[in-house]
Amino acid sequence: MTVALRSIERVRYENLFIGGAWVAPEDGGMIESIEPATGQPWATVAYGGRRDIDKAVAAARTALEGPWGRMPGHERAAIMRRFADLYRDRAGDLAVLETRDSGRALREARADISGHTHGYHWWASLADKGAGRTIPFDDSVHIFTSRVPVGVVAAITPWNVPLMAAAWKLGPALAAGCTVVLKPAEQTPVTSLELGRIIEQAGFPPGVVNVVPGFGKDGAGEYLVAHPGVDKIAFTGEGSTAKAILRTGAETMKRFTFELGGKSPHIIFADADIEQALNAATNSAWTLCGQSCALGSRVLVQRPVYNRVLEAFRERAKQVRVGQPLDEATHMGPQAHEEQLAKTLSYIDIGKGEGAELVAGGERLSGGAYGNGYFVQPTVFGGVTNAMRIAREEIFGPVAALIPFDEEEEAVSIANDTTYGLTAGLWTQDIGRAHRVSAKIKAGMVWVNTYRFIRWSTPYGGFKASGWGRENGIEALDAYLDTRTTVMSTTGRFPDAYAN
Ligand code: NDP
Repeated sequence: MTVALRSIERVRYENLFIGGAWVAPEDGGMIESIEPATGQPWATVAYGGRRDIDKAVAAARTALEGPWGRMPGHERAAIMRRFADLYRDRAGDLAVLETRDSGRALREARADISGHTHGYHWWASLADKGAGRTIPFDDSVHIFTSRVPVGVVAAITPWNVPLMAAAWKLGPALAAGCTVVLKPAEQTPVTSLELGRIIEQAGFPPGVVNVVPGFGKDGAGEYLVAHPGVDKIAFTGEGSTAKAILRTGAETMKRFTFELGGKSPHIIFADADIEQALNAATNSAWTLCGQSCALGSRVLVQRPVYNRVLEAFRERAKQVRVGQPLDEATHMGPQAHEEQLAKTLSYIDIGKGEGAELVAGGERLSGGAYGNGYFVQPTVFGGVTNAMRIAREEIFGPVAALIPFDEEEEAVSIANDTTYGLTAGLWTQDIGRAHRVSAKIKAGMVWVNTYRFIRWSTPYGGFKASGWGRENGIEALDAYLDTRTTVMSTTGRFPDAYAN
């Protein structure tokens, strides 16, 4: 199947997945999805308009109030497990489709996507464990809490990792008993629709998960956020979009979780195992062609090892095989779309203009094997200060900014001197320093002597402008559950306040 998918020139998805059926858009239409490796359209995909969203939300509500809402947790878990197994069986195909749609290297996409199946199984195991608690008071009352699904969830996902972003939302939402309308980014709708096929095969009741690609601003995304039938928005994307969503969703008092950007510090102390630190720092600077929110894009290097690290970055940049993402040998594919390529190239110009030293890369790759694809070289800037825009703003391209420092305190201060607070890494063999520094970093996830270790069971999310709430980990369930407190009198007596 995987081989067949690769050889197919173009694919068509003419329908939306609503209420368990594949239906033509009512007031949406068809969009072309561009293959970033070629710059050419490769998929024709249905997108939804307002009436389609109305239908999807109504289907999600019907499922919530009907079969899914009434289904015992262990039965929901059984369907989720069936889905997880089917997802595992299709992981190879999903990886190929995601590679074609988003440009991420196949070897990297496959490793990521095959891991989602464990996540879905893990969430299934939590579907019947949403216990409340009893609250001791006195013998006149019995007080207990119940956890109830928050309702219909709009899952709005970005273009860099469509299936991962969907998994992080669908897992806890379904475990909590919610129903979902999934709207992928307009640039990468294909794998979310393919996900709809697996949902269909798994035997979920109609409407539990609906997939409606569409536009964000002034389109399906904004309409979902405003929709009175939607209870919660689970969003991954840019901070400016999150603010717009907050404003729109305020009218109907929605619940929100936001996974937003990052400008993560990756600190290499002189006492670190430098080779291991380099493995992590170079990979986390360039993986996904730099299109990961957890990227270690600010590499803080203690001065005694600064030149060694800088030279190693220069050398290792040459070893990165940039190429056609479906090629098994390729390490790094293209940027996911043309605007992102332009954004990355503009930041490379900004870095040069700010006086940073261009150590490696810095150019678009085109012609020959690269054709009109959105390829760019892995890029390294040295001598960066934290005041420079390339150290302050999220580029979302494969651009590492090396920032020298002297003392531990200075590293902490530079690390925290950012509006973001998503992830951070530090490398040291001094255990006291590992504890001191990790405790002072203002980020939702801190890695010590490793980087980008993210699993379904590890809570993930941002401090500061990097987001609200957590995805993954048991903590993620909180965002999909409401708490009902029941106070029951054991006597049934209530004094008449107006008797005297
Ligand atoms: P955007 O914020 O542009 O878009 C994200 C999603 O929101 C898309 O589906 C988009 O639709 C939709 N959208 C856009 N405007 C609105 C609106 N007004 N109302 C409702 N929905 C809307 O982000 P990108 O797709 O550009 O993704 C890249 C960003 O995601 C990066 O900044 C990155 O930091 C962040 N990110 C964060 C992660 C994390 O876990 N913290 C993980 C991955 C990415 P459309 O495509 O049609 O515009």
